[in-house]
Amino acid sequence: MPATILIGVFAEIPKLRPYTLLIHGGAGNITELSAERERLLYTGLEEAFAAGEKVLEGGGSALDAVCAAVCVMEENEGFNCGRGATLNADAVVEHDAAVMFEGHSGAVCGSTHARHPVLFARAVLERSPHVFLAMPPDSLLEEWDLERVANDYFVTAERAEQLKRVQAAEAIAEPHGTVGAVAIDRNGHLAAATSTGGMENKKHGRVGDSPIIGAGTWAADGPHGVAISATGWGEMFIEGAVAHEIQARVRYLGQPLAAAGEGTLSDEVGTRGGYGGVIIMGSDGQAAAAWNSTHMISAWRTESGVHTQLA
Ligand code: ASP
Repeated sequence: MPATILIGVFAEIPKLRPYTLLIHGGAGNITELSAERERLLYTGLEEAFAAGEKVLEGGGSALDAVCAAVCVMEENEGFNCGRGATLNADAVVEHDAAVMFEGHSGAVCGSTHARHPVLFARAVLERSPHVFLAMPPDSLLEEWDLERVANDYFVTAERAEQLKRVQAAEAIAEPHGTVGAVAIDRNGHLAAATSTGGMENKKHGRVGDSPIIGAGTWAADGPHGVAISATGWGEMFIEGAVAHEIQARVRYLGQPLAAAGEGTLSDEVGTRGGYGGVIIMGSDGQAAAAWNSTHMISAWRTESGVHTQLA
């Protein structure tokens, strides 16, 4: 497969408060964004960032913060998660999500009725002896007091239309619009969360990188720990063990976050013909984003306020 040229840029994000939050709403090669979708994305980023930062400001944990931010985006139809997520080849929404905090993780794939897949993943972490549940039964939603909705609740007219177009073209739509968040709290703990519908027209049972620890999601405390949420073409992120590769570059090579992200995208994703982006937070609260696609939808705090970007 031909190597993809790294066309993205990366940003160094400073620690301005006793905590830091960085969120993303997906990376991809987006040719056009309707004014309505742009509005949804900007609003979603702003509201999600505010929700996550409020938790951190109030002394909440990094895990609480990343879940709060992701829950807001799961309610926003502009992103590929929660309501408005992509449809699989059978026109069903199958969500994947993961969280990681203090060295432990929880993940679900093929979730079809949890209103907030990220909270389902968190419940796997906090309420089960396991770390990853595939096609989890709905009975767990009741057992764990999680909101259950009909699968139709997640299906939007726009996604149904998109599925028809993709199926008529006998294609797999390039994935984008996954959401994620990384944070460090006042106690210095790092957390990451990622939530997605995956790839439009995917085969039933297809799992992307988002719920796979070390591929699309990662968080480790300690002097060289990092928290990572990835987005992009999941198959290549799995094959490149992207999130753990970034952690390894930071821990064993001492690379700065942006260089670790950029190098990993180039060597592990670009060389496989894939694209996408990562948000990374270090244990000192500095953060970075890197991507090799035209868009990296994200938000973080700067000296002059919250910066949201769609490009
Ligand atoms: N990485 C996700 C997946 O392949 C999709 C995305 O990031 O948009 O399932």
